[in-house]
Amino acid sequence: MSTYPHGLTADASFEITRPNVPTLDAILGHAFKALDHGFVRVIDYMGDDAAVVQMARVSYGEGTETPSDDERLIRYLMRHWHTSPFEGCEIKLHVKLPIFVARQWIRHRTANVNEYSGRYSVMSDKFYVPSGSVLAPQSKSNKQGREGGYSESDKDVLTRCLTDTMKEGHEAYRAMIEVDGYDLARELARTVLPLSTYTEFYWKIDLHNLLHFLRLRADSHAQYEIRAYADIIQALVEMWTPATYRAWVDYRRDAVTFSRMEMEALRKWIAATYPTDPEYGGSGPVDLLEGVSDRERKEFIARFAG
Ligand SMILES: Cc1cc2nc3c(=O)[nH]c(=O)nc-3n(C[C@H](O)[C@H](O)[C@H](O)COP(=O)(O)OP(=O)(O)OC[C@H]3O[C@@H](n4cnc5c(N)ncnc54)[C@H](O)[C@@H]3O)c2cc1C
Repeated sequence: MSTYPHGLTADASFEITRPNVPTLDAILGHAFKALDHGFVRVIDYMGDDAAVVQMARVSYGEGTETPSDDERLIRYLMRHWHTSPFEGCEIKLHVKLPIFVARQWIRHRTANVNEYSGRYSVMSDKFYVPSGSVLAPQSKSNKQGREGGYSESDKDVLTRCLTDTMKEGHEAYRAMIEVDGYDLARELARTVLPLSTYTEFYWKIDLHNLLHFLRLRADSHAQYEIRAYADIIQALVEMWTPATYRAWVDYRRDAVTFSRMEMEALRKWIAATYPTDPEYGGSGPVDLLEGVSDRERKEFIARFAG
């Protein structure tokens, strides 16, 4: 037994070392560029793939039959929505992003945030101007999107219009806080700034909720500008927890769900397309499945058995 301050005693025979991920350690603080003036940088992290496994194993207790292979366990957890072990890992990012992207980002309530204060400090003079390649008209089929493109001359006109209007807002802001005799409070002057103005925050989130964020924001339905950040964060997650990332890609990002009606249609279609095999209840192109375990094969069959 060892003794510690406040009269604490502890059995120190069980020692562990703090997990560290050399790939992520090597890029701590590096600013990965996003859009025209934004970035994402990793400030700190806690845990790794092994920490997910360590957290999961407490569920089963010593001596209980468990999957021996760590990656297999991670894939099992992901496939069966056993999500709490992923909450054992955390990451803290420093993000610089336009205000309109921050508004979408901040809707993810399961993170801890501290943002640059426009009351206390002078707002950045940097604002986002979409590049010509992402300028597009309002989509006709998706009210929340853009589609198509513009001629080079239209792009020039629109870029000038966006830039001039944003510049005007910033010039008015600077004038109101700097010109003698006005000295307007920063908390009021900022109201003329465009939504394209860059802000910054520290954002700390656990791995489970980060993957949920990525599922929504790295998706093709998300706005391009937030996707630009989500794509960087996906790469960071792959460096940090590669086995969890692979499981997430397979069972979340690139997976789809089917409604009851769609499942019924699929069952009928599969039964009609493939010869009846009594072992599989007449429902299975299981032999087409590649790279999955026997257990997953059985789960797939069960889903189509009806
Ligand atoms: C493509 C797209 C379009 C969108 N369009 C709009 C829009 O037009 N208007 C708009 O307002 N929003 C819009 N959103 C935002 C969206 O509705 C969600 O608010 C946002 O994606 C955050 O998701 P979340 O609540 O699941 O995440 P988080 O806040 O991180 O929460 C994660 C999960 O925790 C649980 N949770 C967290 N807080 C609570 C709580 N207080 N009560 C109960 N459960 C909780 C929920 O299960 C939730 O799914 C859009 C999002 C996307 C991706």
